[in-house]
Amino acid sequence: MSESYDVIVVGAGVFGAWTAHHLGRSGRSVALLDAYGAGNSRSSSGGESRVLRMNYREQEIYTRWSLNSLRQWIELFEQVNRPELFQKTGVLWTPAADDPNTAGTLQTLERCGVVFETLSQPELTRRFPQIRYTSERVGVLEPESGLALARRAVQAVVADAIRNGVDYFREAALATDGREVRTQSGRALTASIFVYCAGPWLPKIFPELLEGRIRPTRQEIFFFGTDPGDRRFASPEMPVWLDFTDERGAYTLPDIENRGFKLAFDRHGPAFDPDTGDRLASGVDAARAFLAERFPALANAPLVESRVCQYENTSSGDFLIDRHPGFDNVWLVGGGSGHGFKHGPMLGEYVTGLIEGSGNVEERFSLASKGREAKRAVY
Ligand SMILES: Cc1cc2nc3c(=O)[nH]c(=O)nc-3n(C[C@H](O)[C@H](O)[C@H](O)COP(=O)(O)OP(=O)(O)OC[C@H]3O[C@@H](n4cnc5c(N)ncnc54)[C@H](O)[C@@H]3O)c2cc1C
Repeated sequence: MSESYDVIVVGAGVFGAWTAHHLGRSGRSVALLDAYGAGNSRSSSGGESRVLRMNYREQEIYTRWSLNSLRQWIELFEQVNRPELFQKTGVLWTPAADDPNTAGTLQTLERCGVVFETLSQPELTRRFPQIRYTSERVGVLEPESGLALARRAVQAVVADAIRNGVDYFREAALATDGREVRTQSGRALTASIFVYCAGPWLPKIFPELLEGRIRPTRQEIFFFGTDPGDRRFASPEMPVWLDFTDERGAYTLPDIENRGFKLAFDRHGPAFDPDTGDRLASGVDAARAFLAERFPALANAPLVESRVCQYENTSSGDFLIDRHPGFDNVWLVGGGSGHGFKHGPMLGEYVTGLIEGSGNVEERFSLASKGREAKRAVY
């Protein structure tokens, strides 16, 4: 027998969770399916923490989405009595003093109403002496921004959606024929609309359409232990720190829940299979060398934990939010490209709006705009 819904959402990562959440709130009957479970270790959303920042240089749409999403994250965490899932650590960006992007970035932040302060090099050194620079920098600090405890945040969104009537199944969905979706276990669910939010798995489900257009890459994350009693690398002394000027794209997160000081590089790693890829990090020497240079007090810090996750990159870094060209009622939603987590709430709202018929897909999110050649423009 087949079960019937208004909408079936495939994938309970941050994109699918928030999409199901908003669709459920809009009064539709919704089924949410996940092959490995919400916030699982293989999913892109399944990490300990993700940065919620507003700074997108001059890409104003993402600053606006981020700001709207931050409000929704905080509201939801308060509603479900889990305010600790957002940690207001502040986010510090330290561009080179002559970075040509800074003026435009600050104008964008201002136009969007983001709270921020700018710091000169001497102020930076005074407030954050644990960071060492080899060239002149300025600081841009977003005091209201911070990070989400990602895996648990996604699970909280799913739990809330379930409380509001969404049916959740741990099932692996196959591609739909536009009428029903079959699962690997043989279940059949029918619906009027299907939304595939399968993150890095999207090209596996729709290989002809998406292979090469969404490219999963291997990304390593390191947690380093600080000295006994040392609070300099934990909030509030240390905010999230981003360095877009470093060609590796280094960023750090303060020690949260005593897990250690987190360091990662945003530069894309090699191609990666989210099902079968080995998740043992190998770049610890490079990470330690970076620490010695930028955070000298941690030069000999022990590695206390590491993780391997994957980005699911589109050519430009813009999300994919569009109809399947073969079916008007099938939506493809993904391409978080290493920065999607923070936008989950706004993305879910946007997809719900599209399904309700309000407005057209922004050109930058369209399938047509997704090439097969990497030309990263969004960070
Ligand atoms: C190391 C790292 C650091 C990052 N840092 C940040 C950050 O600081 N800030 C930020 O905003 N973003 C960050 N990101 C990006 C962000 O985490 C991702 O863009 C986002 O989590 C993508 O969510 P998703 O829902 O599209 O995919 P996923 O979270 O991967 O969810 C897809 C889900 O689909 C399920 N699925 C797959 N196939 C099927 C199927 N056939 N049937 C049913 N279910 C299926 C999977 O089990 C999975 O749960 C980072 C990513 C990584 C890897």
